[in-house]
Amino acid sequence: MTSSTAPVLRNLVGGTWRSTAETLEVRNPADARELVATVPSMDAAAVHAVFDAAERGAAIWRDTTPIDRGRVLLRAAALMREQREELARTLTREMGKTLAEATGEVAKAADFLEYYGGLGRDEQGNLLSHENPAVMAWAKHEPLGVVLAITPWNDPLLTPARKIAPALLAGNSVVLKPASYTPVIAIELARVLHEAGLPAGVLNTITGSGSVIGDALLDHPALRAVSFTGSNEVGDSLKASLAAREVRLLAELGGKNAAVVLADADLEDCIATIAAAAFAQAGQRCTATSRVLVQRSVLEQVERGLVEAARAHVLGSGLDSQTSMGPVVSPAQRDSVTAFVERAVADGAVATTGNIPPDASEHGCFVAPTVLTEVTTSMEIWTDEVFGPVVALVAFDTLDEAIDLLNASHYGLAAAIYTSDLNAAHTFVARADVGQVAVNLPTSGWDVHMPFGGFKSSGSGHKEQGLEGLEFYRRTKTVALRARTRSLV
Ligand code: NAP
Repeated sequence: MTSSTAPVLRNLVGGTWRSTAETLEVRNPADARELVATVPSMDAAAVHAVFDAAERGAAIWRDTTPIDRGRVLLRAAALMREQREELARTLTREMGKTLAEATGEVAKAADFLEYYGGLGRDEQGNLLSHENPAVMAWAKHEPLGVVLAITPWNDPLLTPARKIAPALLAGNSVVLKPASYTPVIAIELARVLHEAGLPAGVLNTITGSGSVIGDALLDHPALRAVSFTGSNEVGDSLKASLAAREVRLLAELGGKNAAVVLADADLEDCIATIAAAAFAQAGQRCTATSRVLVQRSVLEQVERGLVEAARAHVLGSGLDSQTSMGPVVSPAQRDSVTAFVERAVADGAVATTGNIPPDASEHGCFVAPTVLTEVTTSMEIWTDEVFGPVVALVAFDTLDEAIDLLNASHYGLAAAIYTSDLNAAHTFVARADVGQVAVNLPTSGWDVHMPFGGFKSSGSGHKEQGLEGLEFYRRTKTVALRARTRSLV
């Protein structure tokens, strides 16, 4: 596609589609010559106007019933499923992941809309007992007002849906600021919700560089909560900026997720599971396995299996049915991941890689899947998040040692153990200092109804997903009512 045929997209603001004079280009990471679309590049004044619209939207939406809010979410889920092929192609062209991965993401985004939409008919509070029999008391949930969702590029449809669905069900209006590499699918999500009947101003989108409009995003007095997923660097800056304000912050941040392989594991199954968790989406998942701790007696077997899995990958455009691994999202991400591997090798690690077809790398952002051995636990490759298709192996002797190595990280997002020993599995579950623990399963892939979120510097103490995921987006008002002087019981 040439620039003349690429769509010029607009933002949803107060129920209408708005453009700006300045625009941002979105390019296909599999072939940078392809312009996918242009989107508005908003400035501070435009951002302020979006929050004005969201404030008006919040005033309308809070007076609707959860049942009606749920209906809109359920209609949006149905539309998304009808349009899944086109949405998946857009996602792949913009972000790079394979069509199969993108199709799975569309389905999961629809699951979020459906799950929270269904909760519109669930309990909305609870009846409380009271010492005085003439008093009826209850706790009811209320929306917060205007919620800002700031999302990264790695799951550019799923992550906005994970935030927007509970926020809307709870009765808030939302301003969505997607990552600048992947705004197109986020605008598509807004279109689907708009077509499903969301009133004007209830969902609004902002596109523009986060580092330029970051202050303006937090400026508006109507802002009540920020739900952020992204890097620790930006998460920490949001924490600092909001510290003195009555604005809630949910922050889902980085990870350095470990898989622990005990010698009694089903090695064939565990190697396939770890390889999938390390290399799917070219390793660009916050829950991707990036550290593999292997009991010494099976180290060689696990190394060999992961190298075979890396070499088996076919890299190319995610739209090509032969491709099993797409590009990483951008030239900057490619250079960052490549530099991590180069520094690891300079530190003494040994890298074994899969293959990038020469014609693919000329215009695409490809990184070969890489297995690093001879790694020590003081190396940067062991301690720092890479966010690419790179996995590092270290040997251990006892389960205690493995758990200590797992917990030595300042991150605490996800971990997995592979074993046939139930006692070992229970010990690991009890002692792993991470928000998500898997046994004989991948570190990634947590269903929409399962609470999700990291401990330590991977998170902010709030969970997303499931019933717990609703809590961030609402407050509880406790009511005691004495309607008459006689007993109500
Ligand atoms: P990022 O650089 O922090 O960007 C995330 C979002 O923040 C983008 O929308 C970005 O906009 C925006 N942003 C940048 N600077 C900002 C500022 N000063 N104020 C407000 N917003 C700002 O992260 P990323 O590189 O997109 O994503 C990768 C990171 O996300 C990794 O660390 C990964 O582990 C983490 N992640 C965590 C989870 C989880 O659930 N724990 C899930 C997925 C990803 P621009 O794109 O315009 O800069």
